[in-house]
Amino acid sequence: MITVLKKGTTEEQMQTLIAWLREQNLEVHISRGSELTVLGLIGDTTHVDMDLIASLDIVDSCKRVSEPFKKCSRKFQPEDTVIEIGMAGTDKVRIGGGNFAVIAGPCSVETEEQVLCVAKAVKAAGATLLRGGAFKPRTSPYDFQGLKADGIELLLEAKKATGMPIVTEIMNAAHLPLFEDVDVIQVGARNIQNFELLKELGKINKPILLKRGLAATMKEFLMSAEYIMAGGNEKVILCERGIRTYETFTRNTLDLSAVPMLHELSHLPIIVDPSHATGVKTLVAPMAQAAVAAGCDGLMIEVHNDPTRALCDGAQSLTPEQFADTMRRVTRIRDVVTTI
Ligand code: PEP
Ligand code: MN
Repeated sequence: MITVLKKGTTEEQMQTLIAWLREQNLEVHISRGSELTVLGLIGDTTHVDMDLIASLDIVDSCKRVSEPFKKCSRKFQPEDTVIEIGMAGTDKVRIGGGNFAVIAGPCSVETEEQVLCVAKAVKAAGATLLRGGAFKPRTSPYDFQGLKADGIELLLEAKKATGMPIVTEIMNAAHLPLFEDVDVIQVGARNIQNFELLKELGKINKPILLKRGLAATMKEFLMSAEYIMAGGNEKVILCERGIRTYETFTRNTLDLSAVPMLHELSHLPIIVDPSHATGVKTLVAPMAQAAVAAGCDGLMIEVHNDPTRALCDGAQSLTPEQFADTMRRVTRIRDVVTTI
């Protein structure tokens, strides 16, 4: 249920109403926009007298929300969420609400030279966050599984050397202590419905990059974001990375309609990963451009200094030169999008 307060409602009047709603065992989510203040009521609202609330002097309207997602819903918070990333010693990066960010780096962290070389190159080309997998979810148990804790150490060294905040994937909540200095924790496509992991990430105060599952509907995608937010962590960035279809020339099928659809449904930022969405390096730039044209808040692109020797996802990895060219194209499209 949402309650929109009239302009001019005082803080005291609002707090009196909130206290009364809480007495009825409802959780109240407050969204203070520049124009309106919206109270999102979560819990069993069946017994709540909507007409009574609507009749209060300070209330503009009161409506039931039919969607099962609440905290991530645009109805609960009409204004875009802006997520600020970066700890002391790193550049501050904002994403969402008109702030555009590019995350780039190798699929997997392999060596110190590799991660440092790629970090410097992507930064020079305009990326603002460094990615790299330390814990790798691989289809085969015989494939490279990542450098794990050592991989995170190498990412932290690259962060120190470049000032770029880092993004890396978690696969098990028991590993959380290793992620203390990681700026953004990624939940990969395969873990989108690992609800116990999502609940643990709801208890921390760090941005979470949540990737869409291979076969997740947008509703399921948002429900997973809701799991994290329900625990108190509202810093969730959604990432469309393609879904499984009958097509085999591409690794997945990039669902670009998800960008404007999720923007309508949710206030959370949404970025696009054209690397995993296509699996083909020549398709990365065109799909990145299309994603920007569709209004995404950022991109995540895999870059390797020597893709032919990459331990993971070489076929979809761009060289630093190809990445710089992609950035040039993306920037031009973004210039157009922001002036329409
Ligand atoms: C990744 O980003 O390295 C990754 C494994 O992606 P996804 O979870 O989207 O497959
Ligand atoms: Mn990858």
